[in-house]
Amino acid sequence: MERKNAWSKYAKDASQVMAFAEGYKRFLSDCKTERECVDFFIAKAKDAGYVSLDEIIAKGGKLKAGDRIYQSNKGKSFALFNIGKAPLEEGINILGAHIDSPRLDIKQNPVYEDTDQALLDTHYYGGVKKYQWVTIPLALHGVVAKKDGTVLKINIGEDETDPVFCISDLLIHLSSDQLEKKGAKVVEGEDLNVLCGNMPVFDKDNEKEKEAVKTNVLRLIKDKYDFDEEDFLSAEIEVVPAGEARDLGFDRSMILGYGHDDRVCAYPSFMALLETTEVLNKTACALLVDKEEIGSVGASGMQSLFYENVVAELIELQGEYSEIKRRRTMTNSSVLSSDVSAAFDPNYSNVFEKNNSAYMGRGLVFNKYTGARGKSGSNDASAEYMAKIRKIMDDANVCFQTAELGKVDAGGGGTIAYILGNYNMEVIDAGVAVLSMHAPCEIISKVDLYEALLGYKAFIKNA
Ligand code: MN
Ligand code: MN
Repeated sequence: MERKNAWSKYAKDASQVMAFAEGYKRFLSDCKTERECVDFFIAKAKDAGYVSLDEIIAKGGKLKAGDRIYQSNKGKSFALFNIGKAPLEEGINILGAHIDSPRLDIKQNPVYEDTDQALLDTHYYGGVKKYQWVTIPLALHGVVAKKDGTVLKINIGEDETDPVFCISDLLIHLSSDQLEKKGAKVVEGEDLNVLCGNMPVFDKDNEKEKEAVKTNVLRLIKDKYDFDEEDFLSAEIEVVPAGEARDLGFDRSMILGYGHDDRVCAYPSFMALLETTEVLNKTACALLVDKEEIGSVGASGMQSLFYENVVAELIELQGEYSEIKRRRTMTNSSVLSSDVSAAFDPNYSNVFEKNNSAYMGRGLVFNKYTGARGKSGSNDASAEYMAKIRKIMDDANVCFQTAELGKVDAGGGGTIAYILGNYNMEVIDAGVAVLSMHAPCEIISKVDLYEALLGYKAFIKNA
């Protein structure tokens, strides 16, 4: 069973595919953290007429078909609803994806000086090949929460007038021992120290100071960004690759950028709701969560009660809340748990099984199961649900393919699918194929992004 190349659909005119990719590239370049994604979603949703759930509750409002509602969870995860004609108990069609990406987090006590270099200590977040994070331009994104309650937004290294940051690597001339090491040990976690200064303070009082370079850096931080060393204790600053997402290839068919996993699914999920202006029969939801890369844990991860609580509020607004209504709403829901799929890589073909791999350019990918070592940790979608999904996609002329994550026993991975499956929802993993997943720069095909948008729209309308 060969699946066709999705570009063939656009042989005469690919302008819609290219135009949608432009919006996505802007999003990818501007939103490199979960918080930046949520800020973007709130602004866009408000522009499109969505109202915050908190506002409706405060006003004692009621829910009716056609209402468009959003809710942010601590600025790190986000839910968007298009309220349908049917009661919520008939279930919600959910597009789930995550908005956190692998990166390096600045530690709580990060700044130190060594041999006239000022450095920032980091702890990596998610699965990274540590050797990929050295010798590339890095930016700092995040927040500093001060004791007086103010929260400063930090974004340094993206404007062309900004400085960038970098982690050094050992020169090849002295690397004979390093190059004998296993890949996981070539660069180790505690060596991911971000270089951030080399100039000591110049005034007389401090000339003999032990850590004059660190002192200078802290002074500059205070002057320019208005926070003290102690404020790092209550900061969340993420070190991410600096720079914009770019078109890739002579044909501009692909995008090279940081954080496709999983913004390449989150963005079309969000846009599918935004661009669906008709009142659907069932309520549709885009659920965009944090912390997937470290196990979906914590208040902003998929395992949090956030979603369930929002559903309870919606039921209350629609009539009268009861536990059985909430349970029915959950169990009758259908989900596309969207996360990136490993694209077949001809450079590393030995870890893939050709007949069951995802290919760049062949459309939206469905993974009946993911997992590792005999499907362990997987949400194995039912055959009946898979049949329903096939029909929805075929009827809407969406190019799709099915895949596993690599060859049996080559490795594996998980998604948020099983967590929603625990509510007895119908769930299948879906998403876009990515090359170099979890690298500082990942690669996707524009046509796969567009087929995802079409597939998501067809799903919320027909599931
Ligand atoms: Mn992912
Ligand atoms: Mn991932």
